[in-house]
Amino acid sequence: MSLNICRLTFRYNSILTSRSKVPFQACLIYRQKHSIVQQKTQNVSTISVPISINTQNEKVQEIKNCSNELDSSFENTKEAFKSKTNFELIRGLLVFHLCSIDFLVRNNQRILQFMRKFLGAALFKRILKLSFYGHFVAGENTKELLPIVRKMRKFGVQSIMDYSVESDSLQNIEEKAASEIVCEKKILKITEKEFDKILKIFTKCIDTVANATKREGFAAIKLTALGRPHLFTKYSEMIVQIQTFFKAVTGSTDDDIFLNKISKEEFLKRLEEFQIKIDNQVFEDWFKMLDSDDDGFIDYYDWEALVNEKKELIQMFTSFNVKTGRIEPLIQQFTDIEEKEFANMKNRLIYLADYAKEKGVGIMVDAEQTYYQPAISQITIDLMKKYNQDSCQIMNTYQAYLKTTLSNIEIDLRLSQRENFYFGCKLVRGAYMEEESKRAMDRGYENPINPSYEATNEMYDKCLNRIIKEHHNEKNKNKISVMVASHNEESIRNAIQILKDEIIAPSDNVIYFAQLYGMCDQISFSLGQAGYSAFKYVPYGPVEEVLPYLSRRALENGSMLQNLEKERKLLWKELKRRILSGHLIYKVPSE
Ligand SMILES: Cc1cc2nc3c(=O)[nH]c(=O)nc-3n(C[C@H](O)[C@H](O)[C@H](O)COP(=O)(O)OP(=O)(O)OC[C@H]3O[C@@H](n4cnc5c(N)ncnc54)[C@H](O)[C@@H]3O)c2cc1C
Repeated sequence: MSLNICRLTFRYNSILTSRSKVPFQACLIYRQKHSIVQQKTQNVSTISVPISINTQNEKVQEIKNCSNELDSSFENTKEAFKSKTNFELIRGLLVFHLCSIDFLVRNNQRILQFMRKFLGAALFKRILKLSFYGHFVAGENTKELLPIVRKMRKFGVQSIMDYSVESDSLQNIEEKAASEIVCEKKILKITEKEFDKILKIFTKCIDTVANATKREGFAAIKLTALGRPHLFTKYSEMIVQIQTFFKAVTGSTDDDIFLNKISKEEFLKRLEEFQIKIDNQVFEDWFKMLDSDDDGFIDYYDWEALVNEKKELIQMFTSFNVKTGRIEPLIQQFTDIEEKEFANMKNRLIYLADYAKEKGVGIMVDAEQTYYQPAISQITIDLMKKYNQDSCQIMNTYQAYLKTTLSNIEIDLRLSQRENFYFGCKLVRGAYMEEESKRAMDRGYENPINPSYEATNEMYDKCLNRIIKEHHNEKNKNKISVMVASHNEESIRNAIQILKDEIIAPSDNVIYFAQLYGMCDQISFSLGQAGYSAFKYVPYGPVEEVLPYLSRRALENGSMLQNLEKERKLLWKELKRRILSGHLIYKVPSE
């Protein structure tokens, strides 16, 4: 079955190959039916729903207790740094001081390379472990991790293990393969072996979480660690092309794409407008196959099946390539080898998800760059559909610095309602801002990042409010969890206020808090000891392989000078307090 729609192709080719990445996911066209009562609070527009008196009293009491325990200025250093030795405080001060020196931050990679060469691998490793690595990374293997995880747990902070090998290092796997051989099949053999090794590491990570957290922790994973990054780029492009095609046919924008649908007649009219000739019977069959609920319309959710289950249906759309002189598929496809690699990557993921489920461990999928993200998000949502039937075992990550994040959350929330799965979300601001902006400028596409920090903050609040609103939606009630993953004190205070206003107890597991290991302990430990669900993202991995992560930490800390200043002040305050109170040797309390 082949349909030539050259006109459409030429008109939209530029859009289809554009890099304005918008994650494409399935969606709902149905509006929420039940009524809700809106009320305004100080910062946010919130929703209140009646809950039973008993439960409400208990919840109110729990919220009150936590709130009374918490110093929300996060300046009670005695409590916040209770779990830290004096050495750790001094190391923190030194590391943050180095992060404030612009020259060191800008040249950190070159300096690290030089140090490695000059000092030799063994000494370099030792020095890093005593300084930067020791501060930001919990260890090389599960044996080194366990004591740290247990210690944090004693002080009310749970762990999310994060094997912090970044795609920069993973790119080396591809390079290694490519430098040794030329044959694609051999590349496949080499890379697949490497990814299988990483799978084993992730499996051990799940074991560690299960051992250390008594079946209530999370393991974080970067999907690009399980397959060649190239696959994610290509799959993302396919997703964006398919999405752009739907927008073109229905005249949708990012903001209303989840509301639009198109009938057979309208679709045909559109094709005519594009002067595309088509055999009526072929089109009729095609439409019928795509219209999953047989309601005579194709909505975004039906259309999304072209990405996965019904991907052969997209092959009907072909175009004439003037360069090659051949008729080619309108939406690019994987080669046979890539198809195999992709299937292997998915199998690894399914193996991990099954394994984690068996061990009672949740999986938190990290968000990455926009050229990987549509693929990552799509794959994660597919996992949620399968594994989040009874609980929030899989959590996706949303980056508020992207212009399209609120609409992506809307799409996914509606999908979770339609397909009846638990929606789990880690909400971050986003870590790749400079890289994204530079890439957009170099390649001449619209910058996907919000125009200002204030716009990102506004997006963060809007996303959080939208998710919490869904918690009160009858259809999704008690099936929503969101992790406020941020070092921004305003965002944390805002979330605490939402818990109060909405009468959501910390033990309801609707809002969690998380900060990175080595950063903002004053927030995590204050929250944890006050009774909130506090987590630390705990990176681990071999020294050489986490260097890109450390480099990112230096850069990020360098650009957050205000935060850094406060943290340094607090560390110094606590050190002085201990010295003045005669605790030259400080012993971490056992409980
Ligand atoms: C537990 C945890 C998990 C994380 N997981 C991920 C992940 O999976 N993927 C990921 O990408 N990041 C992740 N991050 C990092 C996160 O995205 C942020 O980079 C980091 O936390 C800083 O943001 P903030 O909210 O903590 O602090 P803030 O200092 O309030 O915010 C800084 C952030 O604001 C945004 N910003 C700053 N200036 C501008 C500007 N001019 N225009 C637009 N936006 C601007 C940027 O995102 C910047 O990182 C994670 C962070 C935490 C704490």
